[in-house]
Amino acid sequence: MNGQPDAAHRSVREQLGVYALGHGSSDERAAVRAHLDGCAACRAELAGLAPLAARLEHVDADRLDETPAPPPGLGDAVLARIAAEEAHHPVDLAARRRRRTRLLSVATAGGVAAAGFGVGWLVRPVPDPLPLEAVTVEVAEEGISAAADLVPHTWGVEVKLSGTGFAAGVVYRVVVAEEDGAAVPAGEFLGVGPARLDCNLNSSVLREDAVGFEVVDADGTVVLSSAF
Ligand SMILES: [Zn+2]
Repeated sequence: MNGQPDAAHRSVREQLGVYALGHGSSDERAAVRAHLDGCAACRAELAGLAPLAARLEHVDADRLDETPAPPPGLGDAVLARIAAEEAHHPVDLAARRRRRTRLLSVATAGGVAAAGFGVGWLVRPVPDPLPLEAVTVEVAEEGISAAADLVPHTWGVEVKLSGTGFAAGVVYRVVVAEEDGAAVPAGEFLGVGPARLDCNLNSSVLREDAVGFEVVDADGTVVLSSAF
C-alpha cells in the first residue's frame, strides 16, 4: 500500500471522516495530512468523502435544533464491536488482521452512512406550510361541534373541517357557496358519532369566489354553515 506501514494506513482511514468534516485536533489533522501526502489510496478515499462534507458545510446551523440528531454513540458502538470481536476470537495474526481490515471497512462505511444520514435529514426539503384561514362555523343541529379552516389552492378552495357529533353512519354532503348563489359540491363524509373527525373537502370554487359552505345531511337538512 504505497510503502506505508499498514497500521498508519488503517489509522488514517479511521480518521478520514472526521478530517473531511474539518474536525480533530491540529496534531491529528497534521498526522492525517502527512499520511495523505504520501498515500494516493487514502487521498482517493478522502476525495470520495469531500462532497458529503461540502454539503454539510452549507447546512443552516439555525435549523439544526429543529431536526432529529443521528443516533448517539454510533462511533463508540462500532469501536466496541471491534473490541468484542477481537476479545472473543484470539486467532492467528493473519486471520486477525484480515478481520480487522474487514471490521474497519465496516466502521468506515458506518461512519459514512451516519454522515449520509445526517445530510439526508438536514437537506431534505421542508414544504412551506399552507396558509390556513380560520372561518366561523354556525352549528344548526344539537350535538354537533365543529371548526373549519380554508386553504386557498390555485385549483379551488379546500375546507378543512374538524368536529364531533356527526351521526354515525350518516353521509354528509359539503357544498361551497359562490357569490352568485351557486352551491358547488365539495365532497362527502361519513359521520362517526362522538368520535372526532377531520375532513379535507376540496371544491373547484376559487377562494375569492367562495362566500361560504354548508354541511347537509342525508335528508337535505343543513346541519352547519359558514359564511366567509
Ligand atoms: Zn493510506
